[in-house]
Amino acid sequence: MKHLSFLLMTLSFLVLSPSYKCNVKGEAGAMLPIRGLAIEAPKPESLDRFLYFIEEDLAPAHFNVLILRVDWNYAYQSYPELCDPNPLKQEDVKQIVALCREHGIRLVPQINLLGHQSWAETTHALLREYPQFDENPSVKTEDYTPWPNPERLYCKSYCPLHPEVHDVVFAVVDEVCDAFEADAFHAGMDEVFYLGEEECPRCHDKDKADLFAGEVTLIRNHLAEKGRQLMIWGDRLIDGRTTGIGEWEASYNDTWPAIDRIPKDVFICDWHYERADLTAVYFALKGFQVATCGYRNPDVCLQQIDDQQRFRAQSSPETAARFQGYIHTIWSGADHFLKRYYELKDGKQPGESKAGEAEGNGDEEEDRSGDVRSLMAVINAFTQQP
Ligand SMILES: [Zn+2]
Repeated sequence: MKHLSFLLMTLSFLVLSPSYKCNVKGEAGAMLPIRGLAIEAPKPESLDRFLYFIEEDLAPAHFNVLILRVDWNYAYQSYPELCDPNPLKQEDVKQIVALCREHGIRLVPQINLLGHQSWAETTHALLREYPQFDENPSVKTEDYTPWPNPERLYCKSYCPLHPEVHDVVFAVVDEVCDAFEADAFHAGMDEVFYLGEEECPRCHDKDKADLFAGEVTLIRNHLAEKGRQLMIWGDRLIDGRTTGIGEWEASYNDTWPAIDRIPKDVFICDWHYERADLTAVYFALKGFQVATCGYRNPDVCLQQIDDQQRFRAQSSPETAARFQGYIHTIWSGADHFLKRYYELKDGKQPGESKAGEAEGNGDEEEDRSGDVRSLMAVINAFTQQP
């Protein structure tokens, strides 16, 4: 037991000590190409703090990709009925664009497409304003009960075969990409549980992998017309049963064969939060560029960064180049997260209140500071770079 205690103390020292050198540079001596953060876009009233966060925390730590979940938090002109109350305006976004450009940070706006069109009892803007796009309208979000519920309602999806849905979706995608002056767009597309539902007259007899691949390809082709790249979360492309990774970080609903039916230039954000699963190798060997994504366990995040570097060092040049790096994810509301982040950074205990949290993952008992401590560990690791 003493040996174990000593070992734990040693490990703690290695992880926590400022002198700990995460192997970000790797054996080849090169930095990971992508050192990213994916977080909700700030509300206008918190823009100044968010700019401060970019300037004082992300840029000095050599972050070079910032994926911002904008969704309906932008003053869209094409479909203003979709906008949140008091959304980011173009002049707000231009402040973020200018600061990121100054620091060499690639900005990637995100709107959740296909899935994540609702959360618990709340239907988000697209299906609220255009209920005809709903894949299974008989399931009502107002009747939502906590997961697992009889309807298997996690989030609503839009019907990818509705003849008018892409008129709306692509208009707002183009607008947000123009505003952010982006050469890449993140479409989310994670945790799509409702797809090819029985009640949809267009989709009910279709293969789910074909439906998923078709939607990915359609979005990819639209973006490519303007020289933009598509990024998506990778979970629907992993066979959840065979891998044992489950139905959240991987697919139980038969979408996974889509991995062989989508263009290879789709960038995969391969997220794993409880364990450093090695699926980045799967994506890279299939020909995709991939970044591993972590969240709220500092040890897992640091392992994921090391793994990416190790894969790059141990692979052929062709494959090594596809291991693009690490993107940290934050799933709290950005404003609330930054408040807790600076509380902890300034030596205070983070507040217990969960007010302001956006979509969570159902782990109500979890240490709520795990996401803050994870980002601090990643910042520390990236800061070690020259
Ligand atoms: Zn449908």
